[in-house]
Amino acid sequence: MGSDPSGMIKSLIMTTEIQEKSTMEYPKILVGKKALVSGVANKRSIAWGIAQALHAAGADIIFTYQGERLKPELEKVCEGVIDNPKMVELDVTNDDQLDAAFDTVAKEFDGKLDMMVHCLAFAPKETLQGGYVDTQRAHYAMAQDISSYSLAAMSRKARPLMQKAGGGSIITLTYLGAEKVIQNYNMMGIAKAALEAGTRYLASDLGPDNIRVNAISAGPVKTLAGRGIADFTTMLNHHAEKSCLKRNVTTEEIGGTALFLLSPLSGGITGEVLHVDCGYSIKG
Ligand code: NAP
Repeated sequence: MGSDPSGMIKSLIMTTEIQEKSTMEYPKILVGKKALVSGVANKRSIAWGIAQALHAAGADIIFTYQGERLKPELEKVCEGVIDNPKMVELDVTNDDQLDAAFDTVAKEFDGKLDMMVHCLAFAPKETLQGGYVDTQRAHYAMAQDISSYSLAAMSRKARPLMQKAGGGSIITLTYLGAEKVIQNYNMMGIAKAALEAGTRYLASDLGPDNIRVNAISAGPVKTLAGRGIADFTTMLNHHAEKSCLKRNVTTEEIGGTALFLLSPLSGGITGEVLHVDCGYSIKG
């Protein structure tokens, strides 16, 4: 990030602690634009960092939540940041919910959608420790379904709404474990590899509709999903020590990159996996 010639970034707190409330200020480049954001479980969620960036840039957001039980938590997260947040239930393994959720999005957003944030994943705990060789068939299927197939399913539903909007931008979240063997990441690494390949195939499928699809490969962040990986704290410390910037990435920084990829600023970029990891992945 070196310099800030536009003065766009007012303050960036260099810390390994997670920013629960964004301190960034962005130009209002997304006013009138409509976004669907999945994966806000709590204030530590990467999706919350992204939603705050989109909101600050003026976007109108619909959040998805998985099950009624989680709705109050999402409402609490939005408190004081986004007034009367729009929400829709979506468990990505449920096709009826996918249909219903996108029907609601179409109604709320006048049939149009400009941006979609796919920021969710799941693998059973047993698959995030020990060896990948021990992965059970049912666990494999579940991890792939939720963490990888869901991007295709959601993109298929988003497509007509983005066509009506004249195009769109979709992002997903991945991790270095798709490219390299990372201890304990195991099954999720396999699912992320499929997700990254899926990003490229979707970019090719949807490109003619002026819909871009990109992935952010984020460094480790202490979230609910992250903590599901065995010995996650060691992973965090190792990344901070070894990365070029000698620290871990913040959800605020991931939010800034997401804003770039979702906005017209990245108009010529599609099918890419962009590392937002303080330079960890370039080190030997
Ligand atoms: P998080 O806060 O725990 O978010 C994960 C989200 O996935 C939750 O909102 C969860 O909803 C949702 N989810 C799981 N199963 C679902 C389903 N069947 N239908 C709909 N939603 C479902 O963790 P996070 O770290 O921010 O994860 C967001 C994304 O970033 C994931 O793709 C993750 O792999 C990726 N990522 C994370 C890191 C990291 O170190 N944390 C690094 C790189 C990439 P519930 O809470 O309702 O289950």
